[in-house]
Amino acid sequence: MNSESSKRGRLLAGDSANYYGLVFEVFAYGLSPEEVDEVINTLNFFRPEKIEVSNLKEIPEFFFDLVRRQYNGFLIAKWVSSLRTIRNSIVLGILNVDAYVSPLNFIFGIALPELNVATVYVVRLRIGSSKNKLLARIRKEVIHEIGHVFGLRHCQNKSCVMSFSNSLADVDEKDFKMCNAHYAELKKRLPHVGEELLLRSSA
Ligand SMILES: [Zn+2]
Ligand SMILES: [Zn+2]
Repeated sequence: MNSESSKRGRLLAGDSANYYGLVFEVFAYGLSPEEVDEVINTLNFFRPEKIEVSNLKEIPEFFFDLVRRQYNGFLIAKWVSSLRTIRNSIVLGILNVDAYVSPLNFIFGIALPELNVATVYVVRLRIGSSKNKLLARIRKEVIHEIGHVFGLRHCQNKSCVMSFSNSLADVDEKDFKMCNAHYAELKKRLPHVGEELLLRSSA
């Protein structure tokens, strides 16, 4: 992948085609080409037929809370969903800003499964991270939020990517893979999901 992959309309097939027409539309804001490539590589674990990436030029000021100095994650998720151009696609907004959803002080991401939309916020993931650590955090949070879109709930297994992360330490502790139960649940929805997402050592 190179930086061209971030241009509108570029189609990026998974490593095998014909997977039930699963399409991801990614709307990125403030990410480097390398970070966008990480998102694409991550989404390919789900074996989509197509991934389309658009770079957002701006986020409407209306979603910015001037008192909190953060974006309203709920409103952003609904807005990003409204940018969908392909019917039935799963939309991922990945934004280099800080956001909250009451009553939480901040969020790493939020998904609205009823709207087929997931969002991930990158600003806090950058804190204290090397390049590789940041890319690993992005991978985990993208899979976590997309997992919610597919109906997966939070996990008690701290290694499972579906465990809830309250802090960067939590993010770093978990894997980007899923426990047996969550992987099985996902596979029911997505029979061709990549085995790379299965946490083999989990109990
Ligand atoms: Zn979650
Ligand atoms: Zn799990």
